[in-house]
Amino acid sequence: MKPDLASKLLSCNDFGTYFGISQATFDRVWKRLCSPTGNSVVYISMEIGADPDVFSPVKNYLQQEGILESSHRILSHFLKQYLDGPRKIPNYSGGLGVLAGDTLKSFADLHMPVLAVSLLYRGGYFSQFVDSKIGQIDQATTWTPETTPTLYQLKDPEKPELPLEIEVPFFSEHEDPVYCTAQVWMKLECSDNLDYFTPEFLLDYDLPGAPKWLSEASQQLYNAKSNLVKANQRRMLGSAVLPIMEAFGFTANTIHLNEQHGVTVTLHLIVKELEKALGPDYIQRMSKEDIIHAAEKVGQQIIYTIHTPVKAGHDRFSRDLYSSFSHGTVERILDLVAHDEDNQHEYNFTAMAMRINRGINSVSRLHRDVTRKQFPSFASKIKAITNGVHHLTWTSNSRAALFDSIASTRDWRTAPGCFSSLSRSDYPELVSGLRKAWLIDNQRLIAYTNHMLDNHRRQMTETWIDPPNYLSHLSVPDWLEPNVFTVGFARRFSTYKRADLIFDDISRLAEILVKNNWKINFLFAGKAHPEDEPGKMVLKLILDNQERLYKLSNGLGKLVFIPGYDMCIAKLLVSGVHSWLNCPKRPLEASGTSGMKAAMNGVPNISVMDGWWVEGYHNGATGWKFGYEGPIEDSDLSEDRESLLYAEDADSFYNLLPSVLETFYSKHDEFLDIAVNNLKLNVPIFNTHRMAAEYIQTYNLHLEPDAAAKINSFKELYQSDLPSDF
Ligand SMILES: *Cc1c(COP(=O)(O)O)cnc(C)c1O
Repeated sequence: MKPDLASKLLSCNDFGTYFGISQATFDRVWKRLCSPTGNSVVYISMEIGADPDVFSPVKNYLQQEGILESSHRILSHFLKQYLDGPRKIPNYSGGLGVLAGDTLKSFADLHMPVLAVSLLYRGGYFSQFVDSKIGQIDQATTWTPETTPTLYQLKDPEKPELPLEIEVPFFSEHEDPVYCTAQVWMKLECSDNLDYFTPEFLLDYDLPGAPKWLSEASQQLYNAKSNLVKANQRRMLGSAVLPIMEAFGFTANTIHLNEQHGVTVTLHLIVKELEKALGPDYIQRMSKEDIIHAAEKVGQQIIYTIHTPVKAGHDRFSRDLYSSFSHGTVERILDLVAHDEDNQHEYNFTAMAMRINRGINSVSRLHRDVTRKQFPSFASKIKAITNGVHHLTWTSNSRAALFDSIASTRDWRTAPGCFSSLSRSDYPELVSGLRKAWLIDNQRLIAYTNHMLDNHRRQMTETWIDPPNYLSHLSVPDWLEPNVFTVGFARRFSTYKRADLIFDDISRLAEILVKNNWKINFLFAGKAHPEDEPGKMVLKLILDNQERLYKLSNGLGKLVFIPGYDMCIAKLLVSGVHSWLNCPKRPLEASGTSGMKAAMNGVPNISVMDGWWVEGYHNGATGWKFGYEGPIEDSDLSEDRESLLYAEDADSFYNLLPSVLETFYSKHDEFLDIAVNNLKLNVPIFNTHRMAAEYIQTYNLHLEPDAAAKINSFKELYQSDLPSDF
C-alpha cells in the first residue's frame, strides 16, 4: 500500500468527501467552474447513462495498482463500496442518455470546464422481463442511490449531518413562485488518468412530505402516464438549473440543452431579465416587446442540440394544461416564445428551443438537412455536429490491450485520431491481433448468452415466466456456438427502428442459409417504452419468429433475444458480434450511436444509409449498406406502418446478405480488411473527443492552453458541417 494513496484518491469540500480525485485536482476544477469569467458550460439532460460497471477510471486505477484494501478509515470505506458493488446507475433509457454520459467523459478527458444537471429517478427507467407468450413485462427498477459507489449525496455545509436541500422555484398558480425542495446527488465523471472531472448534479425530489404531483413525477424517467406528469418532469429539470448554480456558486454563462427537455430554464432566465430591466413590478409593466427582448438576451447563453426528427422526441403541451398549473405571467411569455405555428392550442417546446439560442446543431449531416426541412424558419441557424461515442468506454478489454501493444496506435487512449495514420506495414500485426481479440470477445458473448438460456430454462420451473427464447427449450448442443457469423441488433424498440425488418420474409431468409449451408446467429436486445404498444408488438414479433427461423433453416439460423438491455450488455454485444445491424426507416434515425460503438472495435456495420452511416460508410470499405437511399420527401418523415417501406428494404437486405456471409466464411481476409478500415477511417471521427471539440468551437469557450491544444488536434480531423452528398 502506497503511503500517499489517500492524498491521491481523496478530496473534500463543504458538501462532502469524494473518492478518485486528488484534493488539488478537485480544487482546480471547482474553482474554474466558479471563476468570475463565466467561461464554463452547464449541460442539461433528462437522462445520463454513465454506468461505472462499464467504464470507471477509478476502478481501472485500483485494479492496475492492485489496491484492494486500506487501513485508512475513509479509503477503506470507499474501497469496500467499490469492490462490493452494485454499481449500476439506471438513470437512462437509451441513446440520448448514453451520449450524454460519453460526452461528459470526453469533456473531462479534454479538461473542459463543464457541469451537468439531470434528475435522479428512484424507479430508474424500468426493468424489462420478457415472456415468450406475453412479450415485454415492465417493472419499476429497484436501486439504492445510498449504496451506489461513485454517487454522493451532498451534505448541508451548515449541518453536515443532514443532506443539502435546495429550493427550486416553480411558477405555479400565484405570482410568486412556489418552492419545492430537492436533495442533490453528485457523480464525478473522472478523466481517464484522474487528472480532471466533470461533475453531474442529480436532483432528487422524492422526499418525505413532497406534494403528490412532485413525488409522482420524480419516480420514473420518461413517465408518460399523463401529459401532466410529462410536463412536470420537464419543469423539474429546467427549474433546477439556476438554483444548482446558486447553491455552489457556479458561474457558467453558457447553457447546453441536450434535447429540448430542459428548455424551461429559459423561462426562469427571461423572468430574471425582465425583473432586471423593469424592476420588481415587472409583471404589471412588461410589454410584448420587453418579453421578446429579454428572450433574445437569454438566447445569447443557450446552445441547443436537437436529436431526432421523430415526433415522440418533441414536447408539446396544451395551453389548457399549462394554465391548470401555472400563473398568467408564464402564459404571456410562452405565448410569445413557445407558440406552435400549426396549433394555437399548444405550446411547442422544440419551437421554443429553436427560438431562444445562439446556436442549434443536429447530430449528423443528413439529420441537419432533415431538420432544416422540418423547421424551415430556423434553417440558417442549424448546423451539423455529428455524434460520437467515448472510445475508452466502448472498446473491449482485449481490443484495448491490442491497441496498447502496437506502436502506431499506442496513444489511442488520448488520441483516437492516431488510427488514421495506420499504414500497410501495421496490418499484419493488427490483423492477427484483431483476429485473436475478436475470438475472445465472441466467445465471451456466446458463453454469456448460453448461460442466460440456461438460467431461463431453470426459471421455467421456478416462476410463471415463459423463457423468452425458443432455444431454452432445446438441448444444450443446439444452443449457440462461437465462430458462427453473429449479427447484433440492440437499441430501443421504437417502431421506426424496424427491429423486425429482416424477418419480413423468413422463408426467404432461411432459404439463403439452407442453400449455402451458412450458419448465422442473430442476437437482439432492447426495450420498448412502457406506453409504446406498437413498439412492444415489434418485440413480441421477434420472439414469435425464433421457432420459425430455426425450423425453416434446419437449425442454421438462430435468433436470441437478450432481455434487460443496458450498457453492460451493449458493450458485450458491440465487441462480440461480427457485424452490427442497423435498419431504421431513413431518415428517421438522426444519428444512431450503437454502430459507432461497434466501429470502435473494428466491427463492421450492415446498415441502412441513415444517420451517421452516411458519413461512416466508405464505398464498401467499412461495411455494407442496404435499403432505400434516394432523395428525402416530406412523406418520408411519416412513421405510419405503411410508410415504413418494410417490403422494399427487407428485399434489399436479402439481396445483400449472401455477399456478407460469403465474405465472412469464404474470404475472411477481406472481412478482416473491412474491420481494419473501420479502425482507420471511423475511430478517428466518430468519437466524443472529436465531437466535444466541435461543440467547444461552437460555444466559443476560452480554454486554458492545455485544453486548447487538445481541441485543436481534434478539430483538424473532421468537420461535421460540410454539405452532404445528398
Ligand atoms: C448506445 C446505446 C443505445 C443507443 O443505440 P442507438 O443505436 O443509437 O439507438 C441505447 N441503449 C443503450 C444501452 C446503449 O448503450
